Amino acid sequence: MSKISILDGRPGLAAAVGQAAEVAGYLWSAGWAERNGGNLTVNVTEFVDDAMRALPALGDPLPIGKTLPALKGCWFYAKGTGRRMRDLAREPMGNGCIIRICDDCAHYVMEADEPVTPTSELPSHLALQDYLIASGSSYKATLHTHPIELVAMSHLRRFCDSRTLTRTLWSMIPETLAFAPLGLGFVPFRNPGTVELADATLELIASYDVVLWEKHGTVAVGTDIMDAFDQTDVLNKAAKIYIAARQMGQEPEGMSDAAMAEVQTLFNLPKKRVK
Ligand SMILES: [Zn+2]
Repeated sequence: MSKISILDGRPGLAAAVGQAAEVAGYLWSAGWAERNGGNLTVNVTEFVDDAMRALPALGDPLPIGKTLPALKGCWFYAKGTGRRMRDLAREPMGNGCIIRICDDCAHYVMEADEPVTPTSELPSHLALQDYLIASGSSYKATLHTHPIELVAMSHLRRFCDSRTLTRTLWSMIPETLAFAPLGLGFVPFRNPGTVELADATLELIASYDVVLWEKHGTVAVGTDIMDAFDQTDVLNKAAKIYIAARQMGQEPEGMSDAAMAEVQTLFNLPKKRVK
């Protein structure tokens, strides 16, 4: 007998959570999600109905750790703390939770299906979500993961700035420029889970859809969780090509500035977030 789920009879919500499970599977397969590595949140407010609003909370309100005024009335799906992406891929509602932000915008409650405490990185993910809403963006998802080749590049000092990193990755294949048109922001090393790391990330997300934390991983925002994954994947693919060329013993030539400018014009690529 199958358990009753908040996803039952709500195809939009089920699709959004299903997409998170699909992405979690890709993260594990790519080798980017060892043990409980990585976090994600998806804004699911658009799928909330009266019956959901009437649901009792699963326990008392918990502090977010910040007050985030743009999140008033919002609902999110979030990976559970200590949970594995590979388990979330199989069972998204057993390894993640739907939460509601309380009216004070400083607390949240767990709503469904089970009291799975959200990721320890919830404050930084919700701060990104708050920024997206406050800036008028329609983006719904945040993703933190550990893409191997991008993290490897962040161990080389000469790639430790947004400009050099972006230019190198863009110059590998035209599609990198086309599908990650805002490039890759670089955040110097700061300890995981700190306010300093969250603030530095927030600052760069104003200009970039994906940022790279030095010697750690990426944070991406996107229209949905698949978009956040795709942008990360496109950038990591370029890093793989760079490394493959280096393995043949030489620095890759890369597309010229003129060739890249032509791609930008040809595809009318945005230079800042438009959605
Ligand atoms: Zn991490």
